[in-house]
Amino acid sequence: MKLIFLGPPGAGKGTISQRITEDLGVVQISTGDLLREAVKAGSELGKQAKGYMDAGELVPDQLVIDLLKERIAKPDCEEGFILDGFPRTIPQAEALDQAGVKVDRVVNFVLEDQLIIRRLSGRRIDKVTGKIYNVNPEGEPQPPAGTPAEALLQRDDDKPEAIANRLVVYRQQTEPLIAFYKGKGILADINAGQDLEGIVRDAENAIRS
Ligand code: AMP
Repeated sequence: MKLIFLGPPGAGKGTISQRITEDLGVVQISTGDLLREAVKAGSELGKQAKGYMDAGELVPDQLVIDLLKERIAKPDCEEGFILDGFPRTIPQAEALDQAGVKVDRVVNFVLEDQLIIRRLSGRRIDKVTGKIYNVNPEGEPQPPAGTPAEALLQRDDDKPEAIANRLVVYRQQTEPLIAFYKGKGILADINAGQDLEGIVRDAENAIRS
């Protein structure tokens, strides 16, 4: 099964992927995670990508396309995958087609700007496990009770200066993918503004339908 999770940052793509990959027997591939690893490792790719990421801009298509192709060629992808954060532009989607990847379903997470900003500002990542939490009072999932603040990391691009730009970039460069995949008849919209269980349920239904 080959799936794409499409939608603005903060809509829950990563959280839902982490929840359902095991059930589906597929792997989650987040180009954002792969790029952050490259930055951390100080590789040539990481050096090229860092400035774009810090500013909330997209990393140039060719760099991300090469990275993704390399990742999906690995043996653990044979049973399928969820692409979380790829493609983000029409040329990236076309590159996926050209690579012969037949996508079964595109789940489109729909969420309004106000909620996106709220979610992103509360998002924290467990430094050790990489698990995504939300520390807003209404946020889900909450970190386990007693987790010290130092164990959790706030991404630089989840700070207010970068959030605004990421939204503009999403609307301009990524949203056209909705029409692209609608045209192929494989897009399913889900309401990402509800609670976590509701999003998991709707995402699973969209994948099975
Ligand atoms: P994410 O973790 O998906 O929010 O990605 C974090 C950042 O990595 C983005 O703001 C971009 O700078 C970069 N990035 C991740 N995926 C892509 C992609 N498919 N195309 C271009 N840039 C990407």
